Amino acid sequence: MTSTTAKLIRLRHAEIAPGFAVSRALPTREQRMVGAWCFLDHMGPVEFNGQGMHVAAHPHTCLQTFTWLIEGEILHRDSLGSEQVLKPGEVNLMTAGHGITHTEDTLPEAQHLHAAQLWIALPKKLANTPPRFQHYAELPRWARHGAHFTLLAGEYEGHIAPTEVHNPLLGLDLHFPSGHADSHAGPQALDLALNPAFEHGVLVLQGEVSINGHTLHEEFWYQAAGAAQLRLEATPGSRLLLLGGEPWEQHITLWWNFAGHDKAALSEAQADWETGNSRFGRVPGETERLKAPPQPW
Ligand code: MN
Repeated sequence: MTSTTAKLIRLRHAEIAPGFAVSRALPTREQRMVGAWCFLDHMGPVEFNGQGMHVAAHPHTCLQTFTWLIEGEILHRDSLGSEQVLKPGEVNLMTAGHGITHTEDTLPEAQHLHAAQLWIALPKKLANTPPRFQHYAELPRWARHGAHFTLLAGEYEGHIAPTEVHNPLLGLDLHFPSGHADSHAGPQALDLALNPAFEHGVLVLQGEVSINGHTLHEEFWYQAAGAAQLRLEATPGSRLLLLGGEPWEQHITLWWNFAGHDKAALSEAQADWETGNSRFGRVPGETERLKAPPQPW
């Protein structure tokens, strides 16, 4: 494979709570990660009929959960006692490290949801770091050629995101508002500079987007390290997520909601969850704990 190889990866559909389906871009058989980004679910846009999304108490290890909210409201609660309503334009970042338990619920008054749920693998030296929860209401925002940029992680065009990550990463939301003066002219074109040391991925969150002339349909665009630029064309109202990162060199395995640098770590985490070990505390008010499926090894 040459250093500038790109590929289109078909999105998978997964059910994360009863009756609540999402599109999964990472991991797939074709591509496990983009840098340290190791999981990417696109939730919605969806309208609920009273039910909403309710993800019961479940554990995480050795990763950060990174939630980017576009529409709706999600209540995060965890075993550290954190309780935070996430609103549009904000990020919740939970560093699981050695172990944490959390729940995620949409609020009854918010009958719609549109979000990206990501995980970031932790390097081996931080695998057992104490758990931590951070909420970011303010992120760098700017506009260029009718495109609205929000920097979620890393650095781009001289801006630096405040989100505390532990790997060289990029996370960028790009929105092309439908009210823009040029929007009558059809798709807007935009050249995006890339860090050639990073591999990249693009997920369309709304509308129609093409990259270097390929229109994405239910596909995730993967670009190997070595590329310096992407040419985007986006219809008015489109939104996309650009991820980047230094190609991940360490061995890491994902199993259910756990990440680990070896299978022994995953087995231990699961045993600790199943036996109610204090490593995974209780979420105040939790009524149900998710069960891990049996490990295949
Ligand atoms: Mn979770």
